[in-house]
Amino acid sequence: MSGIRPTGYLHLGNYFGAIKNYVKMQEDYDCFFMVADLHSLTTHPDTKELKANVHRVLAENIACGLDPDKVALYCQSHVYETSELYLYLNMLAYTGELEKTVTFKDKVRQSPENVNAGLLTYPVLMAADILLHKAKYVPVGKDQEQHLEFARTYANRFNHRYGEVFPEPYAFNFNQQLVKVPSLDGAGKMSKSENQMAALFLADEDEVIRKKVMKAKTDQGPTAMDSPKPDYIENVFGLMKLVSGDDVITKFESDYNNCTIRYGDMKKQLAEDMVNFISPIRQKINAILNDEKYLHEVMEKGAAKATVSAKTTILEVREAMGFNY
Ligand code: AMP
Repeated sequence: MSGIRPTGYLHLGNYFGAIKNYVKMQEDYDCFFMVADLHSLTTHPDTKELKANVHRVLAENIACGLDPDKVALYCQSHVYETSELYLYLNMLAYTGELEKTVTFKDKVRQSPENVNAGLLTYPVLMAADILLHKAKYVPVGKDQEQHLEFARTYANRFNHRYGEVFPEPYAFNFNQQLVKVPSLDGAGKMSKSENQMAALFLADEDEVIRKKVMKAKTDQGPTAMDSPKPDYIENVFGLMKLVSGDDVITKFESDYNNCTIRYGDMKKQLAEDMVNFISPIRQKINAILNDEKYLHEVMEKGAAKATVSAKTTILEVREAMGFNY
């Protein structure tokens, strides 16, 4: 089980941190993937753009290879049991521990004028999404690790107090380390909302991709053989490893190590490899977005599948908690 907020265009971080694994998992697992529209209200209370954004995220997921016939692909607000479980779990969540959440502290720093209670209890809602399907594996990027810890805490607290209902969910990446795709300016992770010029979006036109990659932060190059790489150079290599062939990476690694690297050439190569990666996805996104009827069918089918699983769990939860009078 996993989800993505409809708060803007999806970028390479969303793809390599999350969607790539969704697509891999759909072959062998019973999967639930949602557009997290309720979560988006914590930071985007204005709903004027919500419909277009929900459609876009759905189309982006499908364009990346997610098959709505193989998985439950749904919209979070269509599964009403989510809100009920969120309420119960809120009674097991302590404000002190939530206030220490890294993502909460980041959001408070970014928007001190909008610190709502929903923002504080974001990890509780996320736990409700996951536990509602008794999910064990949650394909997410590295930034979500702490939220998964909360989901395990609430599962265990619930089980302890009311009896065994939930399995412990874990962040999942096929036994590999969780992914963090860096931003092109070398400052933190690629994200939908921070510097837009430093994120590569799946919807970006070829020329925009080239322009952004050419602006990635580099320097004069190393002056001593086999020097360690500064973080921002490591980031450019990291991005290359996502989309370029092994021979290309080996060439630039060796150019770096013997101090002959030309970052202009490296970025040109990276830009072309990015264009080749993103361009077919962008074309698919645009084709799917044009078919609103299809998107509605996907959402209906997804909500129906997710609701079956949600209702089964919520009946068990009510029974365990003693709501049986
Ligand atoms: P969000 O865009 O915050 O709703 O995140 C949706 C999914 O994308 C989550 O699983 C995140 O962990 C993942 N994600 C977002 N940004 C990145 C990034 N820069 N690197 C890796 N994964 C990311």
